[in-house]
Amino acid sequence: MSFRIVTDLKDSFNPYPKPQKKQRIGQIRQKSSKLAKKERRRFSILQSRKKCYLCKTKENLDKHEAFGGCRRQKSMEYGMVYYLCRRCHTEVENSEDMKKQLRLLARAKFNTKYDAELFLKEFGKDC
Ligand SMILES: [Zn+2]
Repeated sequence: MSFRIVTDLKDSFNPYPKPQKKQRIGQIRQKSSKLAKKERRRFSILQSRKKCYLCKTKENLDKHEAFGGCRRQKSMEYGMVYYLCRRCHTEVENSEDMKKQLRLLARAKFNTKYDAELFLKEFGKDC
């Protein structure tokens, strides 16, 4: 097997112009990508307020991904995250029924916000 080593790149390399970044008014500094990533992960499409989904307290909040296992990352990616206080979180973790309820609610929300086909693609597989 042989292949030709390309030394002249002028015909094969076409840098695509970078899209201009939209500078938001009032934005003072660029956030580091690590921080930006963390912040993206923090959002929830299930709740607009940061309080326990079940008892509404604002104390000792944990985040509970609607789907665990290999779907945990996807849950974060799509904001399928609940805020739960420590006490409710423990309760949920110990109850398959509650976990199922929260999954169903998250799925319904996902289908409204995104779409059902995407849900099956991202969360429908067994793992
Ligand atoms: Zn609670």
